[in-house]
Amino acid sequence: MVARRSISVLGSTGSVGCSTLDVIIDHGGADAYDVRVLTGGANAALLAQQAISVRASLAVIQNEAALPDLREALSGTGIEAAAGDAALVAAAGEGVDFCLSAIAGAAGLAPTLAAVRAGSVIGLANKESMVCAGPLVNREVARAGTRILPVDSEHSAIFQVLEHDQTHAIDRIVLTASGGPFRTFSLERMRGVTREEALNHPNWSMGTGISLDSATMFNKGLELIEADQLFPVSGERIEILVHPQSIIHSMVGYRDGSVLAQLGAPDMRTPIAYALGWPRRVSAPVEQLDFVALSRLDFEAPDELRFPALRIAREAMMAGGLAPCAMNAAKEVAATAFLDQRIPFLEIAAVVENVLEEFDHATEAASLEDVIAADRRARTHAYEIMQRRARRSA
Ligand code: NDP
Ligand code: MG
Repeated sequence: MVARRSISVLGSTGSVGCSTLDVIIDHGGADAYDVRVLTGGANAALLAQQAISVRASLAVIQNEAALPDLREALSGTGIEAAAGDAALVAAAGEGVDFCLSAIAGAAGLAPTLAAVRAGSVIGLANKESMVCAGPLVNREVARAGTRILPVDSEHSAIFQVLEHDQTHAIDRIVLTASGGPFRTFSLERMRGVTREEALNHPNWSMGTGISLDSATMFNKGLELIEADQLFPVSGERIEILVHPQSIIHSMVGYRDGSVLAQLGAPDMRTPIAYALGWPRRVSAPVEQLDFVALSRLDFEAPDELRFPALRIAREAMMAGGLAPCAMNAAKEVAATAFLDQRIPFLEIAAVVENVLEEFDHATEAASLEDVIAADRRARTHAYEIMQRRARRSA
């Protein structure tokens, strides 16, 4: 009998996490994989249900107040329960064959880095790890002798069509973007959009944070920086192309004029299965594309006037150092303020830009502590700037 591969899922209760559990169960669940650790933020009921369904060894919930519920839901199952940031990082640091990193936001960095340091192969959905600390994560990956397999659909596409022994012949990467729910909105119309409108993505069903980031297009900005960190192609050679149907997930153009693209239904279970199975292709419980029903694929140039996030992210990428980390932290603060109806939609990018203008971020991050400190500084700064801007407009 072949030994089952050991796997962990960080952020299993989220959108990507649930899709990952779907793929695991489709492959046979506990009969196919030795599931070690599942982690959640606050949803103890779902975490316990998942841990039981795949017979995980350990379930960790970040929110300590949810531990009694988790313990109770797991009592008699033999599955261990733990809670808190330190327990989460310790669990992520248990070496496994494959660790799917799918916590939302900068909170995913420390657990992802712990998994890297343990030598686990990483299926990376948590793009913020590469945005906040790409050079540091890459150094630790090399030191641990492991690798990152991208799960973000665009980066999975690029990984699938990038000829890794032909990098000298790459002309450009074309990162596709749906354009989000406000693709056709004027700036004037975007001024008054609601939380519900912003979270209503035309093609993908995703967590709240990334749905809002798709509406501002900060998601594509984060992905630009993520691609710059993941692939041996300089940032200036990464183009963004709006493709409203989200069928082509990204492309690589070569100097001979060939462009290779990866296509598929907008369903995260495809890139998750690709990373999970790599280097073998395995099955995923997804629909096959019907080209006749699709009938056409459209393309548009991105508009940096209506979506300043694209310009801001490119500038942060070119500045390097801690600028992308500060950008992400400020964006998380401003995005939460919009979701809580404390600032209007267009203020999100304005706040981020103000933070970056006034932020001393030239230095490289030598350690996780440097990144965490820069993240905190940018968050404090974002709160101050939101207050200042609110006073000015009052
Ligand atoms: P969700 O918001 O749906 O899920 C986030 C997960 O992280 C949940 O398990 C949540 O727990 C947990 N979590 C939240 N905060 C914390 C914290 N402070 N500490 C530990 N765990 C926490 O997000 P998505 O699944 O949509 O996205 C996850 C990551 O994947 C993001 O980086 C996103 O950009 C990326 N991604 C997502 C895609 C998608 O289709 N959704 C596509 C490509 C990339 P709980 O719910 O229990 O509170
Ligand atoms: Mg993506």
